Amino acid sequence: LQPRALAAQESVFARTSREAAARGAVNLGQGFPAAAPPAFLLDAARAAVGRHDQYTPPAGLPALREALGAEFGVDPADVLVTSGATEGLQTLALALYPPGGEVLTLEPAFDVYGPQAELAGARAVPVMLALDPQLGWRLDLDAVARAVTPRTCALLLNTPHNPTGLVFTPAEVEALVALARAHDLWIVSDEVYDELYFGPRPVSPRALAPERTFVVGSAGKRLEATGWRVGWVVCPPGLASSLAGVRQLASFCAPTPFQWAVVRALPVAREGGLYGALRDSYAARLDILAGGLEALGVTVFRPGGSYFLTAHRADWSAAALMDAGVAAIPVQAFCSQALNVPGVMRLAFCKSEADLALALERLATMD
Ligand code: GLN
Repeated sequence: LQPRALAAQESVFARTSREAAARGAVNLGQGFPAAAPPAFLLDAARAAVGRHDQYTPPAGLPALREALGAEFGVDPADVLVTSGATEGLQTLALALYPPGGEVLTLEPAFDVYGPQAELAGARAVPVMLALDPQLGWRLDLDAVARAVTPRTCALLLNTPHNPTGLVFTPAEVEALVALARAHDLWIVSDEVYDELYFGPRPVSPRALAPERTFVVGSAGKRLEATGWRVGWVVCPPGLASSLAGVRQLASFCAPTPFQWAVVRALPVAREGGLYGALRDSYAARLDILAGGLEALGVTVFRPGGSYFLTAHRADWSAAALMDAGVAAIPVQAFCSQALNVPGVMRLAFCKSEADLALALERLATMD
């Protein structure tokens, strides 16, 4: 059996979690929260199981599309519910990218973008984010513009960006939108960390170009339940039903009880200040990990958003960290070309303070 594209390889996240478990390492690799989801979310799910157990329409539970329409200020008919943001991205790849089409991605990039484009018969054209060993990550707008060809069909953005934590400035978003307009490109905007920022609130390209922007979002990321597989795509007007026709071929619909739970939870999260509380809690954990690493002589590139930081020290590698008892993901794993700075690792700080402290203790033994 010939595996199709890169899709048959084990995901770097799954592999890291498996190795971390086997070696008893603190898992700062795969990004999922250590804590249980908020009680109101669990209660909503318990209430839904046994009452809402059959299919929803492929475009999503109408009540959830309505709640998301209200959340994003769009017509519910323009919202598609998916089985996690990953399926939203996959649906967009299959529905939007023509065979032979080129999708501009910003590397380091989340691992599914390239293989999803390949499965659609298109390909990702990566543009490197620039890494200055002192100043950190920066978007090179000229490099993005230079990468456009007549075959370019879409610009795949991600802000806050995984793995760098970069949040694009309003001026950068404006320039990217202008580029998309000039070349008539779709914008696929992966915004799963939209509520998780430590400086200025991220700006969505949808605010400037709703007619060409698809925003991919995630209840798992927002509500701390990554295994529930409820995500969404906010679409340009009139396009959600075509996308539903594609996504129904994969999982038909997202899990019904969890869709119901998210309907109940979204307004509670917003009105009860969950996102602000999570930002505060993650900012505190970011300080613990970043401060602790800096004390060990590690250069830390602090993120503007997401629950990842990137960091490096000359003697660092995934294997050396794993030997010390800490699982992390080399940023090189998110790149198709060699990074200009070796030994840069992505560490997730969405873990317990105890685990972060233990990880720091173990990393200190590397001296
Ligand atoms: N988004 C998370 C990460 O980057 C996990 C993704 C996954 O495992 N599918 O770690």
